[in-house]
Amino acid sequence: MLSRLLSSVSKTAKFNTLTRLYRKYSTVVNPNNAYDVVIVGGGVAGTALACSIASNPLLKDQRIALIEAMDLTNTLQWSPQQDIYSNRTVSLTPGSMAFLKRIGATHHLSPGRANPYTDMQVWDGVTGARIHFDATSLNPHDASNDVESRNTIAYMIENTHLQHALLKRLEQCRAEGAQVDILQRARVSTIEKEPMSDTDDGLDLSDWPVVHLENKTKLHARLLIGADGINSPVRKFACIESLGWDYDAHGVVATLKLDSLDHQTAWQRFLPTGPIAMLPMGEGYASMVWSTKPHLAKLLKTISEEDFVQLVNAAFRLSHVDLDYFYKQLDNDKAFPSLASEVAWRDDVINKSTNEILPPKVVQIQQASRASFPLKLRNSERYISDRVALVGDAAHTTHPLAGQGLNQGLLDVESLTNVLVQGTLEGQDIGNINLLRGYASDRYIRNIVMISACDKMHRLFGTDAAPIAWLRSFGLSTLNNLDSVKSEIMKYAMGVEYTGATSSSSQ
Ligand SMILES: Cc1cc2nc3c(=O)[nH]c(=O)nc-3n(C[C@H](O)[C@H](O)[C@H](O)COP(=O)(O)OP(=O)(O)OC[C@H]3O[C@@H](n4cnc5c(N)ncnc54)[C@H](O)[C@@H]3O)c2cc1C
Repeated sequence: MLSRLLSSVSKTAKFNTLTRLYRKYSTVVNPNNAYDVVIVGGGVAGTALACSIASNPLLKDQRIALIEAMDLTNTLQWSPQQDIYSNRTVSLTPGSMAFLKRIGATHHLSPGRANPYTDMQVWDGVTGARIHFDATSLNPHDASNDVESRNTIAYMIENTHLQHALLKRLEQCRAEGAQVDILQRARVSTIEKEPMSDTDDGLDLSDWPVVHLENKTKLHARLLIGADGINSPVRKFACIESLGWDYDAHGVVATLKLDSLDHQTAWQRFLPTGPIAMLPMGEGYASMVWSTKPHLAKLLKTISEEDFVQLVNAAFRLSHVDLDYFYKQLDNDKAFPSLASEVAWRDDVINKSTNEILPPKVVQIQQASRASFPLKLRNSERYISDRVALVGDAAHTTHPLAGQGLNQGLLDVESLTNVLVQGTLEGQDIGNINLLRGYASDRYIRNIVMISACDKMHRLFGTDAAPIAWLRSFGLSTLNNLDSVKSEIMKYAMGVEYTGATSSSSQ
């Protein structure tokens, strides 16, 4: 009798332990405020991660919350307007575009609005040394099976367009049964651990982060993702230091109307104050990113639109000595009536004395499209802690001169998804730090390499000192003649060298 009782007690204990273990490692089924994955930050990285998880057959049962402080209604309702482009754009590598396709987001892009370009002209504003990247020169078998992306260096796309496509994809995943709650206009106020937490059905939440929103909602996260940008509250909660510095530079952006319909070529000229880039958006339009000293950024935003157009044309054609003279004149006297004729005269001299390939001329800027952003370098000392992972700008921020920041963020998203798939296949708890280590080790060094390369380029070109200018001119000219090395650089920058840790995506 006693032995039968003991055996039944031990069976019950075993059952309880198994149930508890099952609840600990399986997906959250019921409790309203407990989620398998809570993503803080509905920017591109956070929304892409929600899509990537929700569209993966092995992860689609996970209960996900996507929390965003801003109102996403306008982004969800975005539609393209002819001849009007947002000033916030990114250049997406074919590698990133292929990932977006695999998670089903590219179906929701507006046809023709993400502009692929095949050529890139980069030159030194001090010495004139130049390097020309031409994607059509790549070995077709190296890059991609798809003809368009094989010949594409990158795609220019508006941030809102990209985010719109991801939100639409998320809506589609929800309609197909994915358990994704989007909490918009919901700001995270605090994140903490509540050691005494336990839900009704016995799910052990004691070591799960608890996210408190300003509207008093609280969410328990088996895995908490910081996709919440450079000032990441999630990173602060996890006591992860962010290392780096602020550049003495701002990125001035604007939408430009050009005198040419060419939409295949991107142009970037390195000036001693920072690079200026003209990136093709579509026929006759380009997006500009001009990295420059903060006081010049202020000047560029306050001068008249006509003077701004003159300065942009000058920045792609004239010497930095001429530019310094224009800045001083504009600084002293905001009205500089002879600017247009002075730029035209110098431009005429250049045209007659060199046969340099030059970008199209800017004829107008889109009204109210000028804005500027302080430029920073940051890398978190770790990308993970127990039940926490950081992706995108929350993990790292880089100088935009190589257009890689968000591309790195999307590589993080893909890598983390792959690790979660692997954990799910092995029956692991997806918040377990030992599992998350796979993500950190896949991404940390790769991100540091890219951030350091951008930083070095910024410093190398940020001087007109003779020996350095001569050396970089020699380096650029040599590189321009080394097709195989150039191809390798191009493939790296296009994101086609990296295939992710394991293949997991559904589409
Ligand atoms: C001038 C410029 C040009 C660039 N060009 C390129 C380019 O060509 N190619 C490229 O790949 N990258 C480029 N970048 C970098 C790119 O823009 C960023 O890497 C990318 O936008 C970061 O996306 P994210 O989703 O990680 O972060 P964010 O876009 O910063 O999103 C974070 C989100 O978290 C939300 N959030 C923050 N705190 C809270 C809170 N407490 N509660 C709730 N929500 C919160 C925010 O509202 C925000 O929506 C450029 C950057 C600049 C400045």
